[in-house]
Amino acid sequence: MKCPACDHELQPFTVEKLTVDVCRNGCGGIWFDWFELQKVDEPSEHIGEALLKIEKSPEIAVNYTKKRSCPKCKNVIMMRHFFSTQMAVAVDECPKCGGFWLDAGELKQIREQFASEEDREKAAEAFIEKKFGAQLDKRKKALQQKSEKIDKAARAFKFLYPSAWIPGKQEWGTF
Ligand SMILES: [Zn+2]
Ligand SMILES: [Zn+2]
Repeated sequence: MKCPACDHELQPFTVEKLTVDVCRNGCGGIWFDWFELQKVDEPSEHIGEALLKIEKSPEIAVNYTKKRSCPKCKNVIMMRHFFSTQMAVAVDECPKCGGFWLDAGELKQIREQFASEEDREKAAEAFIEKKFGAQLDKRKKALQQKSEKIDKAARAFKFLYPSAWIPGKQEWGTF
């Protein structure tokens, strides 16, 4: 596989049961297959430590603004997005195979963000509350108002059509 950032040949790198592909002596980036990154994205996952020291060449300058192709899939451009709701680290993810490309130093930043999966979830919840909380409240209110309107309409309807009303039999005529 070729490095998506600098075109160097990626090399397999194994730590215990995990094998990733690294751009050693190139840009120092790491390719994680689907679900591999989750095994090392927290500081308690000690095997990730070995991945923080991939040797990189000082001569290679990476263009971070360029879109990158997945090193594994043919002709698939990776999506760049923030790895967490803290929006500190932007990573490349392949929409097809689910792999992640991390530039040199990004794994370290990701590992420093959350101590555990629980912390990560808490941060995500707080983010959603902060970002969409006001909107959610508005929606709830709109729904409430709508059901109140329906209630009023139902009451009005009952008034217009009392239960004793039989079509055509009322002396006051039909509606
Ligand atoms: Zn590279
Ligand atoms: Zn892919």
